[in-house]
Amino acid sequence: MTQMAHPSFVRKLMKERGFNTKKRFGQNFLVDQNIVNKIVASANLQGDEWVLEIGPGLGALTTLMAQEAEQVVAMEIDRDLVAILGELVLEPNIQIVEGDALALDWEELLKKAGWQGQPLKLVANLPYYLTTPLIMKGLESDLPFRELVVMVQREVADRILAEPASKDFGVLSLAVQYFSEPSLVLKVPRTVFLPAPNVDSAVVQLKTHPPQVDAPRDELFAVIRASFQQRRKTVRNALKPLIKEWGLSSEDLDTALERAELESGLRGERLSLEDFNRLTKELLKGV
Ligand code: SAM
Repeated sequence: MTQMAHPSFVRKLMKERGFNTKKRFGQNFLVDQNIVNKIVASANLQGDEWVLEIGPGLGALTTLMAQEAEQVVAMEIDRDLVAILGELVLEPNIQIVEGDALALDWEELLKKAGWQGQPLKLVANLPYYLTTPLIMKGLESDLPFRELVVMVQREVADRILAEPASKDFGVLSLAVQYFSEPSLVLKVPRTVFLPAPNVDSAVVQLKTHPPQVDAPRDELFAVIRASFQQRRKTVRNALKPLIKEWGLSSEDLDTALERAELESGLRGERLSLEDFNRLTKELLKGV
């Protein structure tokens, strides 16, 4: 079962089952075993670990991961694929759950599958129409994921990995940094997918950690989001509507910026997570 990602295997399987890929589900199947091997190797799965996978497709990552982990639980929205996977002779430690990964209760489905708190990782070649919400669901979840290894569009990987002051730095970079330490595993050309998407991809690894900053999360992200709402504006101007909502004046904002040691002419993209953390705490002192 290790040649699941061979182009001729995938083509034959699809032909035999009369399966056509569905664009609306972001179906681009990996047809390069070498890339599949590298993704799974980067997850460094241990025999006592459980994997939650989003979108197993035709099982390329799923089957290989099942050889290394204790259990793989995979959520697939397309019932045609669930039926095909059900007929293939898969490893016995694979459980396929039909449903929308964004809507499903992950903790509940893992518990139903027999998960009792074993170490957990999330691995997925993500459907690109849902990349950011699925990553955020994984990071914000209370489940103890050790890491997330995900294939995303190259430009999303750039945003995830961006440092302050670069053009790609923004809400997603800060949100990922809040929950994890991101790193690039692999750049992936569009040619290794069937059908080939019209963008290149990359695999990123997000090693989770407890938040390294201490401002209340909701308020911190309200400040971050407001600061990036209009990238051209200075943080001082961009934050005015929000601080009004919080019952603060422009003077309060100036004081908070000064106490957080931030120049009032700065734009959001110049501020690090620590800067936003200090600023949020100073603003909250005035509320
Ligand atoms: N893992 C396979 C591979 O690497 O070849 C397929 C990856 S393909 C990019 C994305 C997969 O996610 C497809 O199988 C698609 O049907 C599935 N999918 C799309 N939206 C989904 C959702 N909301 N919940 C669960 N699976 C979804």
